[in-house]
Amino acid sequence: MRIRWLLFLFLGASLVVGRAQAQGGIAVAEVEVSYRFGEQARFSARISGPERAQVTLFVQGAGEPQARAIPLPWQADGKYLYDLNLRAASFPPFSIVRFWYGVESAAGTMRSETYTFVYADNRYDWQTLTSGPIRLHWYAGDLAFGQAALDVALATLDRMRPLAAPAETEALDVYIYASYEDLAGALGEGTAVWVGSHAYPDLAAALVVVAPGVDQRAMMEQYISHEVMHLLLNQSTGGRASRLPLWLREGLASQAEVIPDPGYTQALFAARDERALLPVDDLCLAFPPDSGRAYLAYAESDSFVRYLRGRFGDEAMRQLIAAYAEGRDCESGIWRVYGLPLDLLFWQWREAVLGENAWALALHDLAPYLVLAGVVLLVPFLQFLLIQSPLADD
Ligand SMILES: [Zn+2]
Repeated sequence: MRIRWLLFLFLGASLVVGRAQAQGGIAVAEVEVSYRFGEQARFSARISGPERAQVTLFVQGAGEPQARAIPLPWQADGKYLYDLNLRAASFPPFSIVRFWYGVESAAGTMRSETYTFVYADNRYDWQTLTSGPIRLHWYAGDLAFGQAALDVALATLDRMRPLAAPAETEALDVYIYASYEDLAGALGEGTAVWVGSHAYPDLAAALVVVAPGVDQRAMMEQYISHEVMHLLLNQSTGGRASRLPLWLREGLASQAEVIPDPGYTQALFAARDERALLPVDDLCLAFPPDSGRAYLAYAESDSFVRYLRGRFGDEAMRQLIAAYAEGRDCESGIWRVYGLPLDLLFWQWREAVLGENAWALALHDLAPYLVLAGVVLLVPFLQFLLIQSPLADD
């Protein structure tokens, strides 16, 4: 176990990210970038070459299909500066940003090498503890706080190993914010201040809120465990966790929490009584946008996945994860592994957990189709009767 202080960029400190380059009479040197997280990034370089050369700065955030091309006015002294609005750019926190310069002149064109920097949240003075694949970062609380959080993350890896084995060589970063407001500031504009955690599986990074204090253990065991499972799931499927139905991803992350959310049971039974349960088909791609039904979607996902694990075991659950990671759709992944339709399993879950009648549910859901089938069969039957009846003679 060791403690390591990260050398993140601090409030306006510049980082020289590139070495000098020259080509065809054009030279790019003194390439630097500095930024205030969520506010502004300053790119600077010294570019010398032919008169009236056209200089363009290209900046590309993680996951962006195209770089933004920013034309810079020609500078006689060769000093180029550009301030990028980070509020508008909204790069994911702790992601890698790439940039380069293009220079065009009558003498030819030149593209600099690609420079990168990690867009760390440099509003805070982060401390880091590392063990196994986990890198745990925090800025509020003492060393014991960091150690407790690290232990919760490591225990999650152990507990969930039967479903998703970590790759020991790839790091998973967990950043602990001390308040919901601090986290909302990191996630960007439009984030609700009640959001307690967020994972970026592609970056192998999770951001969670844990305020040092009496509730810290419970917050750690909920938020850290949940988000670490999201990262673990993505790592163990070779970066293909996004192919899994959302009910499975969230259900599995919820299994990792030490104590299941006590409000889930209440929400499920209330929805049952109001006939407001969300059909499983609606939970494959997205959850409802309003917080009440979204909470119900999490509760159903948690309970349904718990039911599948209990009934068919973890080996089958591993196969289900693999089937979806290979590209099966919401319905066919279930068919392939359990040999039953998704709807039927969902009705059986409602029967086993919520005490409903699976056959009544099936009939209720199938009622429109039965009516349609009746109409379709009735028309030829009536035609048959008309043909058989004797025609009246004039
Ligand atoms: Zn989640």
